[in-house]
Order: sequence, then structure tokens, then C-alpha cells
Amino acid sequence: MSTRIYDCLKAIGERIIENKDFLTDLDREIGDADHGVNMARGFQGVIEKVPEDEADIGAALKKAGMTLLSTVGGASGPLYGTAYMEAAKVFAGKTEVTGEDFKASLAAAIEGIKKRGHAEKGEKTMLDALIPAYDTLSEKLSGGSEFLEALEAACQAANEGVEFTKTIAATKGRASYLGERSIGHQDPGATSLTITLETIRDFLKG
Ligand code: ADP
Ligand code: MG
Repeated sequence: MSTRIYDCLKAIGERIIENKDFLTDLDREIGDADHGVNMARGFQGVIEKVPEDEADIGAALKKAGMTLLSTVGGASGPLYGTAYMEAAKVFAGKTEVTGEDFKASLAAAIEGIKKRGHAEKGEKTMLDALIPAYDTLSEKLSGGSEFLEALEAACQAANEGVEFTKTIAATKGRASYLGERSIGHQDPGATSLTITLETIRDFLKG
């Protein structure tokens, strides 16, 4: 019997794999043309390694994080790996997702990515999608919105974050080697992060 967390991770993996060429093309503009390849390899591993019958969301996310750490490579491997491992701690022993836990898992992921990559918001990285998504989710939940409504708004904020990355120069990662020349291009990692959030939204809606 497959569980919801396995199905959700599989859905994320499939969407990343579908977008492999798109993400790689974005990375060709300002990096080394491997983001889609890296992420697709990592999520192929996640689909294979996470046990289908793992009911504990934390355990499944931990396995996913460890798999991403060991298979993705590049800057994004350790960063995504850390994000999933940190989110795993919030869901340890849990079999259901609430808005508050989801919010806490995004906060934990942000802290993990920041610590590992020494980046802040506004450096043209995945954080430029994730931090606005978290802020919006947080505001909406505090304002009394339902989880799914808040998550929808968070996805919109993540997309706006991706648009914002087009307007700034990268100061972290490979794209920073281009300096001002990175302006005009959207960040691949912010894009894959937004795809991830949208897949979670679609999964929870469906
Ligand atoms: P690499 O840059 O090693 O080739 P990828 O191409 O897989 O790795 O991933 C690039 C993405 O990683 C960037 O688009 C950016 O979003 C993200 N990234 C790079 N460095 C950092 C960092 N220090 N903090 C957060 N995200 C980063
Ligand atoms: Mg790259």
C-alpha cells in the first residue's frame, strides 16, 4: 500500500523530471546547464529509495533529504537535502499535514538553507521564492485563512519571487560569477522550488 507522503514525493519528482530540460536551460543562461539534470537524478533516487509504505512523514522526508544529499551534486544537492532533512524534523512521527506544521517545516527549511549556503533573501537563489512563500503562508494563516487557501497565496508569492530574481544580480552560487550579467534571467533554483510548492498544492487539493 502506498502512502500519501510517498505519493506526494513521487508527484514532486515527476514534475521535476518533466521540467528537467526547462530547469537545465535556465541554468545554461546563468550557470553550468545542470540544474534540471541534477534535480531529476535526485528525485529519481527519491522515488526509488523512499519506501512506498512509509506512513511517518518525517521518516519519508528524512530519507528523501538523505537521497538528495547523496545524489544531486552541485550546490542545490546539499541545499535541497538540508531543506528536506530540516522539514523532516517537524514531521517526525506525524502522519498528517496541518497548515501550522507545514509553515514550521518551511521555516526550518529556510533556516537550514541559509545556514548551509550563507545566503539571504535578495541574492538570486531559491530563497527568493521560499521566503516570500513562507511569509505569505504565515500571514494568511494568522489572518484565519484555510491551509489550502494560504498555500495557494504562498505559491503566487513564490512565482512573484521568481519574477523578482530576473531583476537582480546574483551574489551567491555560480550565477554570481556573471555579476550584473545575470540580470534579466530567472533563477533556476527559485524556479524548481516554486514547482515543488505548486506540486504540493496540487497534491493536497486533489
Ligand atoms: P550548481 O550551481 O552547483 O551547478 P545547480 O545548478 O543544481 O548547482 O543549482 C543552482 C541553484 O542553486 C541556483 O539557481 C540557486 O537557486 C541555488 N543556490 C546556489 N547557491 C546557493 C546558496 N548559497 N544559497 C541558496 N541557494 C543557492
Ligand atoms: Mg548548475
